[in-house]
Amino acid sequence: MTGNSGFDRRALFKGGIAATAVGALTTWGAAPATAAPRRAAEPVIYGTDLWGARPPDQPIEVLDHKPTYIVVHHTVEPGNTEDYSRERAFQISRDIQTFHMDTRGWGDSGQQFTNSRGGHITEGRHRSLEVLRGGTQHVLGANVGNHNSEVVGIENEGLYTDVDVPQALWDSLVNLVAYMADQYGITTDFIKGHRDFNSTECPGEVLYGRLPELREAVAASLGVQARQPVEWPLLRQGDTGEQVREAQRLLRARGEKVSVDGVFGPATRSAVRSFADANGVSTATCYASAHTDERGLLGADIWPLLTDGADRQAVKQRLARIG
Ligand SMILES: [Zn+2]
Repeated sequence: MTGNSGFDRRALFKGGIAATAVGALTTWGAAPATAAPRRAAEPVIYGTDLWGARPPDQPIEVLDHKPTYIVVHHTVEPGNTEDYSRERAFQISRDIQTFHMDTRGWGDSGQQFTNSRGGHITEGRHRSLEVLRGGTQHVLGANVGNHNSEVVGIENEGLYTDVDVPQALWDSLVNLVAYMADQYGITTDFIKGHRDFNSTECPGEVLYGRLPELREAVAASLGVQARQPVEWPLLRQGDTGEQVREAQRLLRARGEKVSVDGVFGPATRSAVRSFADANGVSTATCYASAHTDERGLLGADIWPLLTDGADRQAVKQRLARIG
């Protein structure tokens, strides 16, 4: 836990002591006695008409149900600019749309929303803003392989494997996710990173590592308690330890040729690729993953196949303990 949430907890605790003195009960980490669930304000979101989007060349599909998950991505390309202007946000929105339409052959931008390093939020796929405001439907996008009917995705401009996001991006991400969670009644444990669905680095180790803090911040702005999910770990070449050993045991049990030494080297990577190919695991589909060769990562879409027939929840819990 870093940054603002630690401060907020201390402030709450002090408030709790004061409230106890006048007879109200409060507990560590709980919302203040006076807090009640509240609505999140709609942040400024620039619609497709404002940033110069091309019209979609395939029909926009609006599903008659709410999305289940809010998913955080990073764009990787074009890297970490220091241009924090609104015009830059509009430019990257156009660039992503062009890539998705002309290179990927999709009818429009894959993500529903984009958040720039300057904290400017734009609508991605057409109609996403209008449908979010309605709060009952979902614009089908293309940003999480095999889960697009369940997820509403936010592309965050930049590469966050080693460095942190700018404060402006963070603040607007909190505001946007809080608004989405409120509109759709999505609880904070359903705020996810792309890697919680596909074997991908997205949204980068640093931004992914801040998701617990994002859930805390969103919960605080909605006046509710944060819920934190347990997720499958993402393993890649270079990793060592008990989680790798467990992965190697499971791969061997499925017939892959790898020794159980706790070292994720080239042989383990080959075994993961071979297992993924044999089981038809498709590659991730977001803007970031299109720019990186991510084959051989062992993530959230491969663990369930490796543990088929086992008590998956128990395995997941154990992996989290030994990680
Ligand atoms: Zn992604």
